[in-house]
Amino acid sequence: MSGLVDPQGRRIRKLRISLTESCNLHCFHCHREDALAAAPADWLSPEEIAAIVARLAAQGVDQVRLTGGEPTLRPDLHEIVARLGRLSLRRLGITSNGLLLGPLLPALQAAGLHNLNLSLDSLDPVRFERITGAGEQGRVLETLAQARELGLEVKLNVVLFRGINDDEALAFVELAERRGIVVRFLELMRIGPDHEQNRRYYVPAAETLARIRQAGVRLRALRRPTGATAFEYRTGGGGRIGFIASESRPFCATCSRLRLSAAGVLRSCLMREDGLSVRGLAAAEWPEAVARVLSWKPVLRPGHVDQPMVRIGG
Ligand code: SAM
Repeated sequence: MSGLVDPQGRRIRKLRISLTESCNLHCFHCHREDALAAAPADWLSPEEIAAIVARLAAQGVDQVRLTGGEPTLRPDLHEIVARLGRLSLRRLGITSNGLLLGPLLPALQAAGLHNLNLSLDSLDPVRFERITGAGEQGRVLETLAQARELGLEVKLNVVLFRGINDDEALAFVELAERRGIVVRFLELMRIGPDHEQNRRYYVPAAETLARIRQAGVRLRALRRPTGATAFEYRTGGGGRIGFIASESRPFCATCSRLRLSAAGVLRSCLMREDGLSVRGLAAAEWPEAVARVLSWKPVLRPGHVDQPMVRIGG
């Protein structure tokens, strides 16, 4: 088999790039205030990012998503998107909390951005603040509207927490139907130093699904593309919803992703702390380095990881 294939035969097509470990929100499930972030001086430059992606693209990676931390905190975000936009990737996307993204969207789209994953865990301002420690959910909804006006494909990621926002699943289903977006419910993962104490907030996808069905919403299962993290449904009202059930229905068997940290460490998995710095690697060293990282890709889902999501890049 040609291209990037791991020892289990999983073909790698996707790369998640963390542009920074810093964030302008302080979501309790994601990171602690004291989480150490790679300093801006350590960040890969736009040229370095594009060079690494070009090498991976030559080996078959055709879908790249920029994340973090909060990628809009990078002052050179436009240049990064523009450089990646020139690589003719099949999909170039960004994951953002949407607070600063709205005004940047037209230029990012012109530079080659195809799609947007927005994170919004509550439609209620008080709950939103409880989860994020700050921020205005109204701004996220404005960004969503702007992105739709520009014709960008939008997916809204919602982590449901027991006793905090799990009663909002239906409101999010209605939002998916009204706004023509995909809403994806994420299970709270065992990631970060507080994963054990946060376990009490975990809501399995099956429970959310049952709650939505019991409310009378008709759901038709959609075909799940190979390597997709979510399983999705079309709702009776014409909306599209999905579930990223990393805990109860892990998708490691078809995982098609690698991850690159803000400082240039290539990683095999969201749930593994180890990785290899590929910064400044000569072309001749590249094949062996990538093969090593691929050999670390877990077969079964690791139980937990203590490193916060904000450091790994969600
Ligand atoms: N700052 C950007 C954003 O907010 O979308 C990108 C990074 S953030 C880490 C990406 C997503 O990961 C957010 O939706 C966040 O809620 C989610 N996330 C963080 N920690 C998580 C955990 N332990 N389990 C599930 N999702 C988590």
